[in-house]
Amino acid sequence: MTARILVVDDVPANVKLLEVRLLAEYFEVFTAGNGADALETCENGKIDVVLLDVMMPDMDGFEVCRRLKSDPATSHIPVVMITALDHVSDRIRGLEAGADDFLTKPVNDLQLMTRVRSLVRLKMLTDELRLRASTTRNIGIEELLSRREPESEATPAILLIDERPDSGREVAEMLGESAKVDVATDPHVGFFQAAEEPYECVIVSTGFAEFDPLRLCSQLRSLDRTRFVPIILLAEEGEVDRIVRGLELGINDFLIRPIDRQELTARLRTQVKRKRYNDHLRLSVTQTIEMAVTDALTGLHNRRYLDSHLQTLFDRAVARRRPLSLMITDIDRFKAINDSHGHDGGDEVLREFARRLRKNVRGIDLACRYGGEEFVVVMPDTEAAIAGKVAERVRAEIADAAFAVAGKDVTVTVSVGVSSLKKGVDSVAELLKRADVALYEAKSGGRNRVVAKAA
Ligand code: GH3
Ligand code: MG
Ligand code: MG
Repeated sequence: MTARILVVDDVPANVKLLEVRLLAEYFEVFTAGNGADALETCENGKIDVVLLDVMMPDMDGFEVCRRLKSDPATSHIPVVMITALDHVSDRIRGLEAGADDFLTKPVNDLQLMTRVRSLVRLKMLTDELRLRASTTRNIGIEELLSRREPESEATPAILLIDERPDSGREVAEMLGESAKVDVATDPHVGFFQAAEEPYECVIVSTGFAEFDPLRLCSQLRSLDRTRFVPIILLAEEGEVDRIVRGLELGINDFLIRPIDRQELTARLRTQVKRKRYNDHLRLSVTQTIEMAVTDALTGLHNRRYLDSHLQTLFDRAVARRRPLSLMITDIDRFKAINDSHGHDGGDEVLREFARRLRKNVRGIDLACRYGGEEFVVVMPDTEAAIAGKVAERVRAEIADAAFAVAGKDVTVTVSVGVSSLKKGVDSVAELLKRADVALYEAKSGGRNRVVAKAA
């Protein structure tokens, strides 16, 4: 895993030190000797992690961090603050400024690499989501993303898994108003609880008498429902190996006892913020995928979806030697409807048509808007004779009751072509073609009728 790391420090020797170590691990290293240069390098993009010294003349590390985090173009870049060893208040200020992590000077090699790697991993995930989300702009779903996510300030619900009741109580008290804390003293119970409730963070304490806390972390990481929940490990002094192992397993952060209240709150807040941001991106990607395969006017699947899915249904029918039928419907004289009732009136007819169509086919049938006023219904497990009956039912459903368009009753009729899978040699294209030919016959035969092309 390679990545671009920016090292920011006003002391050239410090920059060199980190640079050499990172280069040895095959990271690509960029350097900056002051805050302004650092900001510029980040704005030009492609930086994956920033290692930021706190003490710098002109603009200190806190200010650099605050600026990076408040600019939407750079706010997703993880920042690691490098602070002096005993300046606990610096760490807290750093986290308050939005830093994702910190390291203390002199920087421990192992910590440096684990922290950088774990942040790089997270960054890759965020980048992937950002990329997918931005793809949506290209397919015209800007509105979805421009809807700015309201910076959610809701109190997060979190789960603390800690075998020792007094320690659990202590942590819960420390968090006070900043989180709604549930405490589980049994690790197994805690695991199930984490899977069941929508917690925004799980804090795991290492102090179990007979249970490996890392097993719990790894279980949380492998379960679908908890895969993305941030995990913070509460460790004891001297548990460095365990922490390193935990970071490799995918825990997001850790604290070493005795716990500092401010540090705990700040770290928790960072994790929750990051989770909310990623959840938001993930959701917009999901919505985008749904929108990409859905027809906006009728809510049915669109042609793109049909094109990709019909082949699957076809292959499945052939493999299982099951029947498969398909109908294409085309509203009769739709141009005339548009002409007399306007385009909006036409749209209203299309929506109502889709509603009636859906009502008359089964849930496993695939109903799509094929284009304009044409719809396709794919009917798995359906013989030609049955498909013909379904088509006739749809035709009657359209013709028998007038459509209400802007308060007026409008008579609508539809022509339908039906085709069914032929035993032996056949293809999706052939199936569609036969339905199309049948539809053409229905039109030339006088419209408002069904023509089926028997196998
Ligand atoms: P036929 O009985 O032969 O099918 O006649 P028709 O008028 O339905 O024929 P044609 O397929 O040529 O016309 C379809 C019309 O549907 C043309 C187009 O303006 C209209 N149309 C296509 N998409 C939409 C839409 O989304 N909304 C509306 N209101 N009209 C649409
Ligand atoms: Mg047409
Ligand atoms: Mg038509």
